[in-house]
Amino acid sequence: MKIACVGGGPAGLYFALLMKLREPRHDITIFERSPRGATRGWGVVFWRDLLDQLYAADPESARDIERGSFPWVDRQVVEVHGEQVVSSAPPGYGIRRQRLVDILVNRALSSGVRMEFEHGVTSASQLPDADLVVACDGVNSRIRQETEGIATDVRVGENKYIWLGTDKVFDSFTFPFIQTDSGWIWAHGYGVDAKSSTFVVECSADTWAGLGFGAMPPQDCLSMLEKIFEHQLDGHQLIGQTSGEANAQWLNFQTVTNSVWHHGTTVLAGDAAHTTHFSIGSGTKLAIEDAIALAGSLQRHGRLESALQAYEKERRAAILHSQIAARLSAQWLEDLPRYMTASPRQFATLMHRRRSPLLPHLPPRLYYWLWLNPTSHEPLGLRRLRKWACPKVITFYGKFFRHTQHSPLCRCTCCRDGEAGTGRPLDGGPGHRQGPGHSGLRSRRVA
Ligand SMILES: Cc1cc2nc3c(=O)[nH]c(=O)nc-3n(C[C@H](O)[C@H](O)[C@H](O)COP(=O)(O)OP(=O)(O)OC[C@H]3O[C@@H](n4cnc5c(N)ncnc54)[C@H](O)[C@@H]3O)c2cc1C
Repeated sequence: MKIACVGGGPAGLYFALLMKLREPRHDITIFERSPRGATRGWGVVFWRDLLDQLYAADPESARDIERGSFPWVDRQVVEVHGEQVVSSAPPGYGIRRQRLVDILVNRALSSGVRMEFEHGVTSASQLPDADLVVACDGVNSRIRQETEGIATDVRVGENKYIWLGTDKVFDSFTFPFIQTDSGWIWAHGYGVDAKSSTFVVECSADTWAGLGFGAMPPQDCLSMLEKIFEHQLDGHQLIGQTSGEANAQWLNFQTVTNSVWHHGTTVLAGDAAHTTHFSIGSGTKLAIEDAIALAGSLQRHGRLESALQAYEKERRAAILHSQIAARLSAQWLEDLPRYMTASPRQFATLMHRRRSPLLPHLPPRLYYWLWLNPTSHEPLGLRRLRKWACPKVITFYGKFFRHTQHSPLCRCTCCRDGEAGTGRPLDGGPGHRQGPGHSGLRSRRVA
């Protein structure tokens, strides 16, 4: 089979690698617009479940990825109103994006995949003849845009974010929330190797404008952020550039969904097919899972159309839960002032529950009291009410989302394409992996 992959990110690299490992006679070329060794973005997080999948698919690269990762201690830290709230969390890993991509590039090349760096492709007509074109060229996929029959919806998030690094090592997931004269600004910090961490800074558009980031030169912006997060960075610097790429920019997150994921011989994978807000840290995992599923489907099905159909069906169902969680999480952060009157401990707990579909409907303190208050004297009637009401709300919510692709409370009007559902519950029901926030909380004042 002759395959052209447009985009050498995790989705394209892992797909090409798996296809080549399964059938060395496949003729596979990846076209990547950036030079070798230059990738956008700092580090990403993942959990053991992804490593297990990587080991099952290709133990050699999985070993390198595990060795190249930075394991965190099993806790999360939320800092608000000058108080640190520490909670237990499943142990995770951080890895520099460049490291991950380098491992996959080396493995793909040594397995016989051809790579053409500095070769941007804006239309499938620029590609040599191929039996299959895999559009894995990221969130702004040009191949997707020009492929007939694929309707794309993009929900542009209200908040501003900038993806930075720092030479301070955060040994666990750390979320400092800082109040400025222009409003709240916060960061998502996590170690990615023994020397550095990712530091994604986020704030509302009003705060961003009020702080003057729009017209600020990149170095002044870093200096100002270093000042705002002075206490958390502990004198360490923020870094805006990775591997010779342009300076990091303030962006609005784009949530992408597509009416279909394949047309003719072109198929979407990774961010080109779907994006999930970075606050749930799963885009890379989903991109790699797409690659595994697509390679598996092509191996199982004789006809290309059947293989692409089966891949799309499988992955649409598999990612639904993450898409819902990502929308809710992004929305929670957009509605931040709603939660800011809570005590630090309540705030941290509510933040860990930000994927709950109920939380936006109820006053936060009531939600906390009804769902999270860890009292042992809870009246029996309340416990029964909770047991009865929870599954009903979850079922309603799941049905609603499956039909409309967004939450019943979502303000956006742009996401309308339907999704096949998994029916997995979201709000504490069986099968839901609970956030670590509502048990074992410890608080500590830091300023
Ligand atoms: C701030 C932030 C934090 C994140 N944190 C995490 C995290 O912690 N964990 C996690 O799992 N995910 C995270 N993600 C998401 C993750 O980065 C993406 O989901 C993942 O990179 C998707 O992989 P991909 O291969 O589909 O696309 P990409 O990684 O975007 O790769 C696409 C590739 O295509 C190339 N390309 C683009 N256009 C062309 C063209 N016209 N011709 C040729 N090549 C082209 C690009 O140069 C790029 O190399 C985060 C995202 C953001 C924005």
